[in-house]
Amino acid sequence: MVVYNRVQQHIAEKIDSEAVLKNWEDWKWHQKHIINQIQDFEHLTGIRFSESERIQINKTIQRFPLAITPYYLSLINTEEFRNDPVFRQSFPSESELIMQSCDMRDPLAEEQDSPAPQITHRYPDRVLFHVSNICAMYCRHCTRKRKVGDVESIPDKITLKQGIQYIKENSQIRDVLLSGGDPFMLSDEYLDWLLGEIQMIPHVEVVRIGTRVPVVLPYRITDDLVSMLKTHHPVWINTHFNHPRELTQSAKIALSKLADAGIPLGNQSVLLAGVNDCPRIMKRLVHLLVQNRVRPYYLYQCDLSEGLSHFRTPVGKGIEIIESLIGHTSGFAVPTYVIDSPGGGGKIPIMPNYLISWSTNKVVLRNYEGLITTYKEPDSYEPIFCDRNCDDCTLQLNLNEADEYQATGIASLLADADKTISLVPKQSERIERREEQEEDGNAA
Ligand SMILES: *Cc1c(COP(=O)(O)O)cnc(C)c1O
Repeated sequence: MVVYNRVQQHIAEKIDSEAVLKNWEDWKWHQKHIINQIQDFEHLTGIRFSESERIQINKTIQRFPLAITPYYLSLINTEEFRNDPVFRQSFPSESELIMQSCDMRDPLAEEQDSPAPQITHRYPDRVLFHVSNICAMYCRHCTRKRKVGDVESIPDKITLKQGIQYIKENSQIRDVLLSGGDPFMLSDEYLDWLLGEIQMIPHVEVVRIGTRVPVVLPYRITDDLVSMLKTHHPVWINTHFNHPRELTQSAKIALSKLADAGIPLGNQSVLLAGVNDCPRIMKRLVHLLVQNRVRPYYLYQCDLSEGLSHFRTPVGKGIEIIESLIGHTSGFAVPTYVIDSPGGGGKIPIMPNYLISWSTNKVVLRNYEGLITTYKEPDSYEPIFCDRNCDDCTLQLNLNEADEYQATGIASLLADADKTISLVPKQSERIERREEQEEDGNAA
């Protein structure tokens, strides 16, 4: 299979006159020849910037470093590079230095929700485990831009063992998400050790790996890596393709290796102005993904991280894209559009409205074509009162097989067994007055 085109051959030879196909397919060769200087970028692409542009770009690089793999660089359309999605995702823009009042260093408060080194524990049953501080390259739209180039290191075993210990001590954690940096920047041996340690924890049911390696350095997906991963099932992988142009022959080979190993593949895209903020581009992307056995999982609204303002779109653009997909294409090709809430509230799904109105026995709905229809609800429905006394329940449930169910959040407002009637904001003058009154009462 030809994965080495003439552009790539040309780039490889400029980097190293002795380079052959074997070098190009060696991920360590790409790491060794990562492009982090404007001059090298210009030399390899033939693109020339003006002196004033160079000054601006260098200023940006000082704040947010440049790093592109020769592979990803080879995908840039050098003829029309300014609007090129690959160029925009990998090459610095002076707009990154524009700070807006809404910008934050750590908009998702990942550092505040970190009870142990390298761990972000936000949701009840799953944790994010930052196992690597290295990426194959630097994406300009990185949500952890604050960290880019900060610590170029793989956390040592002592540090990771503290994270593992935290997971061991918290038996509600059933899903561990390895992230970073990129977990696939770890050596096979190190990752094998880590996955083995996590796998030994009895309450951990699945491990997920979030990686952009199939997009920016597909040669990292080696046969050795894949056979190691296979020994740690169930392992799920989420990739990060943002544009159809990224699904090259090399990327497809990497994906098929992973899929052939029985690893369920998902994709998390970020909605980026000037890259993929177009229903047609997104439809093409999701179709290519499912053809390659990757299920579109999330479409993220661009976070409020510093240096990303030029990438942000209005939320309406995301809704428009989802509107163009639901009903118009396979259900499993439609990602969930989410906003990761600033301050650390987690992901909030956003959808076009399909429920138009309702009465006590009927709902009015619309479909993707604009057809307005009704759904008649049952005239009588015997709800099963649930006080969570499952022994007396008429439904069949094998208790040993089902998780203990405790309603929290909005779900607690709906639960029969929970007496909560409202969720009260922490800061409310009215509640403060109430508390003062009570205190006065107690004092009197
Ligand atoms: C996204 C995320 C998860 C995983 O969320 P899912 O909706 O289960 O994919 C877990 N923890 C943190 C901190 C996250 O940001």
